[in-house]
Amino acid sequence: MFKKQLLFYLERGECPACRFAEESTEVFYRWFLLEYYYSGPMLSSLVEGGFCHRHAWELEKRQAIQVSSTFEWLARDLSQKLNRLLSETKGRPAQRPPELCLNPISRIWPFSWLCRIFHRKRSSLRALAFLQRKEPCPVCETIRASSAEAVTLLIKWLHDPEVKAAYDQSGYLCHEHFLLALKKAPPDLSAYLTERQLRNLAGLIAGLTEYSRKRDYRFAHEPRGVEQLAWQQAIRFFAGEKVRSDGTSAKNPGQDGYDGQDG
Ligand SMILES: [Zn+2]
Ligand SMILES: [Zn+2]
Repeated sequence: MFKKQLLFYLERGECPACRFAEESTEVFYRWFLLEYYYSGPMLSSLVEGGFCHRHAWELEKRQAIQVSSTFEWLARDLSQKLNRLLSETKGRPAQRPPELCLNPISRIWPFSWLCRIFHRKRSSLRALAFLQRKEPCPVCETIRASSAEAVTLLIKWLHDPEVKAAYDQSGYLCHEHFLLALKKAPPDLSAYLTERQLRNLAGLIAGLTEYSRKRDYRFAHEPRGVEQLAWQQAIRFFAGEKVRSDGTSAKNPGQDGYDGQDG
């Protein structure tokens, strides 16, 4: 994340880590639909994990019909795995006779019974092991890596007077990214970030209090203002920015128009 990107989001009072992750997600989908949807490394990764529920349905929202070949590959791979599971299940005895257990005590009831249960459970777990997810969802991973990078760069850029002034004025991190920043920041910066976050939190509490007050019938006649959005701001604060990954996000100077130099 570059200084222009950072300032853009700080001046809008938005969490730069959430927004940078959103931009990175857009870049991922763009490349996935251009090229990655049928690339070897991507398919190898997807057969070991695949998209999570949320990000798989993003493909449907984007009318990404070219991924039919991706899903054909995944379906064929899964079919092979299930056939392997079936042949292993049919070829394996459901129970191991207690007399075959190595421990002689297992031949005595109730240990023989426990031996059978344990053997059956272990066999089914082994058979299912190759079906378990081993790779993360590639979009979730993009979000995790890019937001972590954004937080690292924010900490670095807070030594810049212009960025520091913008953060003083309207700096904001959602709760998750604030916690991440605390883990990465040196102690003096942690105190500064916490003070700024307390100011954000005080504004949120004031908005929620005012919203509740105006829900009271005695004050319901008063004109409604920004406090009507306080409950949405609370969701945003605790869960992160609302994703606008449908091409409608505000144009960020750090995306296509960036001139390639830091600052
Ligand atoms: Zn965030
Ligand atoms: Zn995901």
